[in-house]
Amino acid sequence: MNPLQHSFEQVFERIEQAKAANGRTENVQLLAVSKKKSASVIEEAYHLGQRHFGESYVQEALEKQATLKALPGICWHFIGPIQSNKTRDIASHFQWVHSVDRLKIATRLNEQRPERLPPLNICLQVNISAEASKSGATEADLPALVNAIKQLPCLRLRGLMAIPAATIDAQAQRLPFKAMADHLTRLNQQFALHMDTLSMGMTGDLEVAIAEGATIVRVGTALFGKR
Ligand SMILES: *Cc1c(COP(=O)(O)O)cnc(C)c1O
Repeated sequence: MNPLQHSFEQVFERIEQAKAANGRTENVQLLAVSKKKSASVIEEAYHLGQRHFGESYVQEALEKQATLKALPGICWHFIGPIQSNKTRDIASHFQWVHSVDRLKIATRLNEQRPERLPPLNICLQVNISAEASKSGATEADLPALVNAIKQLPCLRLRGLMAIPAATIDAQAQRLPFKAMADHLTRLNQQFALHMDTLSMGMTGDLEVAIAEGATIVRVGTALFGKR
């Protein structure tokens, strides 16, 4: 078995074990985070059956997308910080954006989403550990953001994304993920929505995230090695 295939099988095994340990039966999607990895590595993963890829840098992603445009069914997720002057490229070249954290960005993505494409899937990034260094909306901002974004016709609000602060204490590690799940439930009730996505969990903490309800885990290092 080649090394990349082995890495994918190990990550799928981790996901399956975490689901089983927590009685989770619905699908947990693996988003392969391919930032700083070459188009040929992405193509290799594609031929192993992977379809969803996460990128953090617009220019780098566009170059790889151009190289790989012949691959049917490949699905690109933008997961990096968003500058206003990049929204047009993001709106036209991605199917998902996980890192929307302010209305200005959402408005621009809505206006710039090409008409020929289906609505852009959106997750709101939440600064769930309230870290000064991280982007993301505050928890207090969420209701107003959801209320505004749910009305934008070229966006489809799917849920929430977070990158919690790392902790060494396994119990403490669960708390931010649990808070995310609670926010999703509460926002769905408050606004009569059916948001279905919790994008949370990475190489170091995907089990904890799945225990608390992650529906997409974003994994880079465990699949592709160090960046
Ligand atoms: C890089 C990155 C990941 C992947 O992190 P790993 O620890 O390499 O699995 C996940 N999410 C975001 C937003 C990232 O920027």
